[in-house]
Amino acid sequence: MVTDPVCGRDVNPVETTVQSEHDGEVYYFCSINCREAFVENREEYLPGD
Ligand SMILES: [Zn+2]
Repeated sequence: MVTDPVCGRDVNPVETTVQSEHDGEVYYFCSINCREAFVENREEYLPGD
């Protein structure tokens, strides 16, 4: 399981097709809505810097 960075839910990367690659890392989301929120405002959801 991985964590959806937008809503914090656990996501199974094998089951979800909603994903986004950023800076060499792949992020998985529970829904299209979470993916869109992430793409529009990455800085808010990424940990660190
Ligand atoms: Zn989500």
